[in-house]
Amino acid sequence: MARYTGAVCKLCRREGMKLFLKGERCYSEKCAHTRRPYPPGQHGQARIKMSEYGVRLREKQKVRRIYGLVERQFQRYYFDATRRKGRTGEEMLGLLESRLDNVVYRMGFASTRSEARQIVKHNHILVNGKRVNIPSVLLRAGDKVEVRQPSREVKLITASLAQVEKRPMMSWIELDKANFVGTFKGKPVREEMNEPPIREQYVIEYYSR
Ligand code: SF4
Repeated sequence: MARYTGAVCKLCRREGMKLFLKGERCYSEKCAHTRRPYPPGQHGQARIKMSEYGVRLREKQKVRRIYGLVERQFQRYYFDATRRKGRTGEEMLGLLESRLDNVVYRMGFASTRSEARQIVKHNHILVNGKRVNIPSVLLRAGDKVEVRQPSREVKLITASLAQVEKRPMMSWIELDKANFVGTFKGKPVREEMNEPPIREQYVIEYYSR
């Protein structure tokens, strides 16, 4: 499946906030957004008044980039959410949060979502005891995510787990760090998803314009 392979710090600078796409570096002084808090490019420091459409477009791009998806993949979550009973914005975030790569990241087995995607693709993860190597698989409440026994020595995973306390642990995620296992407890709590802040209403308005 397609994925973005360009420079990620540019994306944070474009969106005007830290999107935490580079793991450890995002918490250090080396963060490009901290050092150059303006959009990339020749006219990055020019003052531009954003249109209403522009505001919505930027919000959509931001959420899409946080979850590391290309447009077609991201759109699918919006359309799936519109078919569900609840509030479309929250349903969309719920779907994005229940992706396996996102859950692996939230549990701390990877320091970024793109790293999590790689870990899943490389067969390091079991879901309910079975090997799953598709990052977009949607988990259900109660699903157990585990690092395979032989993969517990993989440096990428151990290094990320060692830093897990630095990140907030979400209430819908349970982690047994010593045993490399976690549980996805179910729907995310919207109020906890505020780092980076998301205005999902703008995303909905963008697609329903
Ligand atoms: Fe780069 Fe992370 Fe800083 Fe974003 S938050 S600019 S990805 S270092």
